[in-house]
Amino acid sequence: MATERTYIMVKPDGVERGLVGEIIKRFENKGYQLLALQMIKPTKELLEEHYTDLKEKPFFPGLIKYMSAGPVVGMVWIGKDIVKVGRRLLGETNPLASNPGTIRGDFGIDVGRNLCHGSDSPDNAEREISLWFPNGVVQWDPTENNMTQKDL
Ligand code: GDP
Ligand code: MG
Repeated sequence: MATERTYIMVKPDGVERGLVGEIIKRFENKGYQLLALQMIKPTKELLEEHYTDLKEKPFFPGLIKYMSAGPVVGMVWIGKDIVKVGRRLLGETNPLASNPGTIRGDFGIDVGRNLCHGSDSPDNAEREISLWFPNGVVQWDPTENNMTQKDL
């Protein structure tokens, strides 16, 4: 079980519907650790690079239009097996095929409005993290400063 990083993104429909906090909460509740967070309106060029593996798909132009329609919230999370488990938290690509209890299963209907993104392999996660956070991200240990001690 490897400690990995993954790139999780709330898509424009998730931002518009006010699901940013809900999605963050599910990763926090699970026990994973947040390393980076940004809200940006991505360019088409950035999105085309992000989804480069899909550029031959018939839905690619629509996907780029959807993803560039509004701001997204991109995050880097770290933890044990987080690439696979993170995608389990998101649900299936098609929200209608996603189990209740997953983000897409609880909040989505259409594959073209499926609310969130999660990297599909550790290698792709690192590629996406470099693409979306070219200046790097922090490294920290949540226990290092003992911020919850009561005798302050
Ligand atoms: P993911 O890894 O579960 O996000 O799925 P993919 O990497 O296969 O596809 C990337 C994104 O493209 C998905 O999250 C959807 O937003 C969109 N997408 C995938 N398949 C379809 C499709 O058949 N139709 C449409 N309209 N969008 C799709
Ligand atoms: Mg994918």
